[in-house]
Amino acid sequence: MLSEDEMPQAWYNIVADMKNKPLPVLNPQTREPVTREQLSVLFAEGVVDQEFSQERYIEIPEEVQDMYRIWRCTPLVRAYGLEKALDTPAKIYFKNESTSPIGSHKLNTAIPQVYYNYKQGIKHLTTETGGGQWGSALSFACSKFGLDLKVFMVKASYHQKPYRKLMMNTWGADVIPSPSNLTDAGRAILAQDPDCLGSLGMAISEAVEIAMRNQETTRYTLGSVLNYVLMHQTIIGEEAVKQFEKAGEMPDIVIGCFGGGSNFAGIGFPFLRMNLAEGRNIRVVAVEPQSCPKLTRGVFQYDFGDTTGLTPLIPMYTLGHNFQPADIHAGGLRYHGAGAIVSQLLHDKLIEAVSVPQMETFEAGLLFANTEGIIPAPESAHAIAQAIREAKKAKEEGVSKTILFNLSGHGLIDMYAYEQYFAGNLKNFTISDEYIRSTTSELPDIIK
Ligand SMILES: *Cc1c(COP(=O)(O)O)cnc(C)c1O
Repeated sequence: MLSEDEMPQAWYNIVADMKNKPLPVLNPQTREPVTREQLSVLFAEGVVDQEFSQERYIEIPEEVQDMYRIWRCTPLVRAYGLEKALDTPAKIYFKNESTSPIGSHKLNTAIPQVYYNYKQGIKHLTTETGGGQWGSALSFACSKFGLDLKVFMVKASYHQKPYRKLMMNTWGADVIPSPSNLTDAGRAILAQDPDCLGSLGMAISEAVEIAMRNQETTRYTLGSVLNYVLMHQTIIGEEAVKQFEKAGEMPDIVIGCFGGGSNFAGIGFPFLRMNLAEGRNIRVVAVEPQSCPKLTRGVFQYDFGDTTGLTPLIPMYTLGHNFQPADIHAGGLRYHGAGAIVSQLLHDKLIEAVSVPQMETFEAGLLFANTEGIIPAPESAHAIAQAIREAKKAKEEGVSKTILFNLSGHGLIDMYAYEQYFAGNLKNFTISDEYIRSTTSELPDIIK
């Protein structure tokens, strides 16, 4: 544990330490780098500055620190029970981000994003949510700063996760199942397929459209992918570094599950700094679902962040913005692309990526629940599955490794997914090369 006064007071901006900087985000019409002015139409100026920043550390504003202290610092826990069950010589630690009021790491960036909008005098925010975690986090942050919020929630999740919707309503947000009739993007999708259950990409299109329509008072917010979102999450890893220093140890392997990259970056980047700046050799591993394998099977190319093509072009490992992932229960990991920084790091082989099938993640989640007592979010169970693989490997090789994974959230609002698992209704999904070729073949040929 760290005390409240030991909470780090700056976020870490890994761009400062990268030899190959992330490629610029491009305007799709001109293919010129997007400017601050262009991004400021969509996002708060405070975060747009951070998006372009080359500073190594960015101070966390006082008001944001005060709100972080509602639940931070979060515990670093040694998983003795899991180690024992695996009979491994490895030491397994996890950083418990499930202790936030909304149950996941998403609040680490929701609070500063709403803060910078509030400072600028913005009154309304829009966003999308898949699993409902981001929508919940932003709803709570908006209620603290007195902004109102429209959340476009992927229709499949809206029906599967009624309690997430009700959490957002509790904090005063308006939740709309997407695709909806409120936007041109939604209406166009519904005209083609009235029963469409939606995707993150579609919901982003709707939320962006509403924000663009009301530029005087409204901005859009995004819970992952962008540089500043990843930076806000580094509070996780900054704390973990301090906690390991106190314990007189350092991990050999750091693991995070991967949707758009924010919790992975949050736990991983502060340790990666030791590799980049001090020549250490800590393995930093991103874990994605086998059914949405952008890091392990996608292409490194410019692509849109949404389905309709309203966002700028982002340099990313992507499966193509029309990729439709299978209906797996880790809703937060069903996104077609990765952020620019993480993509560059992977391209330069400074981080690793692996994929895990759905059934293995639920087996790992159950073992963790029965040994450590915490029911993990299906997303977080991907990180647990990889930690278990590494611990088993350490046993086979007879070496003692120190493994750290991020428990990005608890699964108490995801019990429907566990119910489906218990009922034997879940399975693994494999994606054919042909399908990936078809969804990536239309990407612009910008990165040669
Ligand atoms: C949103 C979410 C994720 C995936 O998003 P990242 O930006 O990749 O972190 C993972 N775990 C939980 C619990 C989430 O809510």
